[in-house]
Amino acid sequence: MTAALEVSGIGMRIKSATLLDGIDLQVQPGETVAIVGPNGAGKSTLLRILSGDMTPTRGSVRLKGTALSSYPADRLAAHRAVLSQHVTISFPFTVEEVVRMGAGDMARVKAQPLVDAMLDEIGLNAFRDRELPTLSGGEQQRAHFARVLLQLAVGEAKHGPGVLLLDEPTSSLDLRYQINLVEIGRRRAASGTAVIAILHDLNLAARFADRIVVLHRGRLAATGTPRETITNAMLRDVFEVNTNVDLIAGPLPHVLPQAMQAI
Ligand code: ADP
Ligand code: MG
Repeated sequence: MTAALEVSGIGMRIKSATLLDGIDLQVQPGETVAIVGPNGAGKSTLLRILSGDMTPTRGSVRLKGTALSSYPADRLAAHRAVLSQHVTISFPFTVEEVVRMGAGDMARVKAQPLVDAMLDEIGLNAFRDRELPTLSGGEQQRAHFARVLLQLAVGEAKHGPGVLLLDEPTSSLDLRYQINLVEIGRRRAASGTAVIAILHDLNLAARFADRIVVLHRGRLAATGTPRETITNAMLRDVFEVNTNVDLIAGPLPHVLPQAMQAI
């Protein structure tokens, strides 16, 4: 099977700073991958490289077997959709207009049922006529998520399963919508999309991901299942906290602030 995304020997240097070094990673169609790591570890830089927003100073990135750099912008938008960490829209578009942007240049009548379905799925129907800046941070984040999901759906209708890249998509969401987003991500993966998300909440990452990639100071510190990666040793060495992930029994590790000391 051709990997959805494949990076080998990725390095990123800006002046004398090494943001990423020696990253190898393959993500298969239908896989859910969480990228975790402390502030400044290089997570957003890696996601921007995976999305084609940024060109690495070393190594190569392939999207569905083809060099990412050889995709023209419109083809890229049809094969992968990206939710960036900071999205600013200064013009006062309504929620519906923002979501419709995900349909690109598709005719309005053709896009409308897709826009409606997306507003429904993300629970934004009641907000459709509101201008984006009047929404709460979490509501705005959901509107952008809906836009990105629409872009993914339009691309997948033409080209089959694509890649969904999310940079801290749950950072402003309440608990219900955090779980909602994880479930939507897993549903897309079940139909073949490769879903890659940067998540800060390790419990949420464990629930979301088939595989967790731990970044530390620009390098891959660990990769594997939640059980294999979210360990007391990793939390100590990478996140600099002492804790016990087995305080609650179960198949997944539990990372509890109540049982944690900063080192
Ligand atoms: P993360 O998303 O894991 O918090 P980033 O990928 O955003 O981290 O950034 C990784 C590191 O690279 C950070 O220490 C950041 O300050 C640094 N960095 C990002 N952009 C630049 C730049 N243009 N020049 C120098 N350092 C940068
Ligand atoms: Mg970041």
